Amino acid sequence: MSDFGGAAKLVSEHPDYKIAVLGVPFDEKSSYLRGAAGGPAAIRRVSTGKCYCAWTELGVNLEEDTVLVDVGDVDTSGDPDKSLALIEKGVAGILDKGAAPIVLGGDHSITYPVLKAFARAFKPLEILHFDAHPDLYDDLYGDRLSHACPFARIVEDGLAAGIVQVGVRAVTAAHRAKALKSGVRMVEMKDIQDPLHLRFAHPVYISFDLDALDPAFAPGVAHHEPGGLSTRQALQVIQSLKGRIVGLDIVELNPPRDPAAITAAAAFKILKETAGRMVRPV
Ligand code: MN
Ligand code: MN
Repeated sequence: MSDFGGAAKLVSEHPDYKIAVLGVPFDEKSSYLRGAAGGPAAIRRVSTGKCYCAWTELGVNLEEDTVLVDVGDVDTSGDPDKSLALIEKGVAGILDKGAAPIVLGGDHSITYPVLKAFARAFKPLEILHFDAHPDLYDDLYGDRLSHACPFARIVEDGLAAGIVQVGVRAVTAAHRAKALKSGVRMVEMKDIQDPLHLRFAHPVYISFDLDALDPAFAPGVAHHEPGGLSTRQALQVIQSLKGRIVGLDIVELNPPRDPAAITAAAAFKILKETAGRMVRPV
């Protein structure tokens, strides 16, 4: 297998894997445009070892210094409730082996079932959430499991000891108040002047909605929200954060909106640098 910069190994040959990529081709909770179900395939396609090497910028060789496997996709062919349950089960299976899941969405609704599995494995757990949107809607068009709601559910269920949202720039007054009340720290785009140096005392899970990036860097998302992070700014936050990263999701890649696959390449870059930080924490 030559995906992920040639780093991905076969599960059958490496049952003792350390990092597992899990695809979730699911976009039934998208509020505006479907298409995110094609995300996992697009990231696999663009990340071929024919184009990329397995070395991270910080000097980790993902082919030699860890065991990274691709465990394939969650079965999302059934009804949405069944798919969400299977996502939780798939992630729990990886965590039970003591490995770190990297989950490729899919729309952002998938993060709630992923975090249900994580909350059982890590207590306390902190979350670093990159997004243009706080995703704190109590419901959207009557759906409490919409991709606009995962962090409302995560807060409500007490799945995280702390949440830091980076890159937000489409915030309602109600959501700002809700964040304040629930202890969610918003690092809003308008306030980011200098490089961010974050520190997490507990294991940290990163949820990366690609619309956190400026549409100039990541056009392949459903909701274009100008004024976002550059790919470099996002990498700086990940590369410099102090803490132990135990999981990652990359969501909302919408391949029909990404004709040159530039957003898929950004997704892979984020995957790669985050995996490197999993292997070598600071
Ligand atoms: Mn989101
Ligand atoms: Mn978003």
